[in-house]
Amino acid sequence: MSRRVLITGAGRGIGRATAILLARQGYSVAIAARTPSELAEVADAIRRENGRVLTLTVDLTDRSQVHALVDRVEAEWGPVEILINNAGIGSSQNPKPLIEFDDDFWDLTFHVNVTVPYLLTKRVLPSMLQARWGRIVNIGSINSKMPSLHAAAYVSSKHAIAGLTKATAKELAESGITCNAVCPGVIATRMNDKRIEYDARRLGKSFQELEAVSSSLGRRLLPEEVAPSVAFLVSDGAAIVNGQLLNVCAGMLMD
Ligand code: NDP
Repeated sequence: MSRRVLITGAGRGIGRATAILLARQGYSVAIAARTPSELAEVADAIRRENGRVLTLTVDLTDRSQVHALVDRVEAEWGPVEILINNAGIGSSQNPKPLIEFDDDFWDLTFHVNVTVPYLLTKRVLPSMLQARWGRIVNIGSINSKMPSLHAAAYVSSKHAIAGLTKATAKELAESGITCNAVCPGVIATRMNDKRIEYDARRLGKSFQELEAVSSSLGRRLLPEEVAPSVAFLVSDGAAIVNGQLLNVCAGMLMD
């Protein structure tokens, strides 16, 4: 059987594009999110190309569903060999200056963006260690390395996922398992639409004006332009790439 991938937040955006690319490359792809209609659309797209897909409706804000998610993949297919921690909450859901920041939103952001990847990593490690092979890719952000305004929880959580990536990679260095992060720039997804809408209101500019300065290419980057970097990191060819935070941002960041 082809390698089994679990990817969270695969109903749309970066997760969707990554799931479709990996299925096209022959991986068996388990896709998880809350919205069944979006998962069904991605599954249809994969099946149209004869790919192998399993849809898993899950709310990762519910801690009890996190382990159950992996249980369901194991029951259907067997152990998860590749984990892609992609699901995330953006700053734009509740942007505020730090002095007014919403404490509940802070907790929620840290739960989904950091604690869930930590719990899922712990859950999949025993079978990866037994197989002496595994790949973990965390979706960080340019905000893993630089701040944005009114986004204290998001920026802090994305710095934390960088730390989790390195801590995991260090412990697994001799195990045949790698853990890396992809750090996208400004990507045209629903999450980023909301952020641009907020910044447009805040700055008195148009959506299009802000899009045009989102990257050196004069446009927002596309989910399909991020997916190939994830595909590289999960491949056999990336066996000696470990603990890296790979910027995928058209050169916005260079370290
Ligand atoms: P989208 O909002 O387009 O997609 C987010 C996905 O995560 C959806 O499938 C959503 O599904 C799922 N998700 C969110 N909350 C939960 C939850 N509680 N339980 C289960 N699934 C959940 O976002 P992007 O594609 O933009 O973001 C993907 C990742 O990329 C995130 O980690 C984000 O921080 C990161 N990123 C994005 C950038 C951008 O500019 N877009 C830039 C840098 C990083 P549903 O709502 O149905 O649950």
